[in-house]
Amino acid sequence: MEALRRALSDRCLTVSWLPGKGRGLVATRDFFPGDAIINEDAYASSPSKSSTGSVCDGCFASAKLKKCSGCRMVWYCGSACQKSEWKLHQLECRALAMLSDDRKKMLTPTIKLVVRLVLRRKLQNDWVIPTTETDNYDLVDALVSHMSSLEEKQLVLYAQMANLVKVVLPFVEIDLKEMTEIFSKLSCNAHTICDSELRPLGTGLYPVISIINHSCVPNSVLVFEGQNAFVRAVERIHKGEEVVISYIETAATSKTRQNDLRQYFFTCSCLRCSQDLKEDAILEGFKCVDYTCDGFLLPCVEKKTFTCHRCGTDWDEHKIKNLISELEQMCGKATASLSAGNPSETSLLYRNVEQLELKLYHCDSIKLLRTRETLLKIYMELNDWRGALRYCKLTIPVYQRLYQSIHPMLGLQHYTCGKLEWLLEETEDALKSFTAAVDILGITHGTSTPFIKELISRADEARAEAAYKQSNEDSKS
Ligand SMILES: [Zn+2]
Ligand SMILES: [Zn+2]
Ligand SMILES: [Zn+2]
Ligand SMILES: [Zn+2]
Repeated sequence: MEALRRALSDRCLTVSWLPGKGRGLVATRDFFPGDAIINEDAYASSPSKSSTGSVCDGCFASAKLKKCSGCRMVWYCGSACQKSEWKLHQLECRALAMLSDDRKKMLTPTIKLVVRLVLRRKLQNDWVIPTTETDNYDLVDALVSHMSSLEEKQLVLYAQMANLVKVVLPFVEIDLKEMTEIFSKLSCNAHTICDSELRPLGTGLYPVISIINHSCVPNSVLVFEGQNAFVRAVERIHKGEEVVISYIETAATSKTRQNDLRQYFFTCSCLRCSQDLKEDAILEGFKCVDYTCDGFLLPCVEKKTFTCHRCGTDWDEHKIKNLISELEQMCGKATASLSAGNPSETSLLYRNVEQLELKLYHCDSIKLLRTRETLLKIYMELNDWRGALRYCKLTIPVYQRLYQSIHPMLGLQHYTCGKLEWLLEETEDALKSFTAAVDILGITHGTSTPFIKELISRADEARAEAAYKQSNEDSKS
């Protein structure tokens, strides 16, 4: 831990013991929005099932890939990645090639990740792969596992998975109890690796970044460039302040958030979690049926009514319940149509769902937001840019309410808006949207990645086009 402290002090960070939280990462200087606080390569990672074969097993790039001819189970973007992974993969490759087809099918991404973790530890112990202050197995060892809080059923499952790792790697000495604990550690420490547009690609273990605690109003954000994880400040972080990121989707009520955090074994006590009741009612509660009133309804069991907290009107329980059951039926039809893959019918059904939800929920409710996000996707699929833009625009004010002002989701939504406006030749609007996207994503994603460079060049193109249009207008008048 001393070695880690030394390495972190060069980055103006320290690990502190925080009351009620355990370990945490603390800034020893001021950080500003956009500052890269820390970056780390995964100690071990593996692509998800759906990304296997579409992202490189080494760097997670989604370039043109080649399958390893030895095991035919691992993919690389080129000889550079294959070469740099070879010390580890030659052991993995041999082990994989010896497995029966049935066993190969049992190798979930989590098992593959642990196989890589065990091999990496072995190679570092044998001095084949170098260790550094921030890249060594001691850091994995120091992670919390919450073994004692696990249910029997979960422990049995982890023990079975541990056994499978032992079968895959017969040439490595493996302690089953310790291996079970590694699976338990993964469930509360591993991170989902996403692409620049936040689409999940796989899982990685980042032992240093794992020290960072959660908040529902985080001052930093975790993004990935390939498998390399970056933590960037989204707010000013003062010297002595804790660096916090969010482990979960924060566009949710406090109840949903606490539920999502259960796998990490703690109760969040951030500012948002301690004073959230009104916000929760807006996000998930029923709204007053009087459309001129923005109050929300509280059930009153004795009177068999729902009472508006603002105007005090009692609404007949039946009226509300009928609306709810009508909505449930409509949602059922819409999801069935969505999975049947008939976008034009699905768009009509979701429009009906939207109309019913507008009667029941606040305009910033999560349910209505999710419906509109689905409609955005459906209209995109239909190449109906006008329809897609309408729904993209409707989601933005809700994102602004639900997320902090610098949040990747909000930046990406501005970007989508800009692309649609550009397609519809609404140059001025596209320029505004691209600029809003650059202002946010330039902070969360840095300014040097191909993703941001493309966004910036689109903004420049829109600016040039807008100036050209303006000069034409001027010469006419
Ligand atoms: Zn690669
Ligand atoms: Zn191979
Ligand atoms: Zn919280
Ligand atoms: Zn009311």
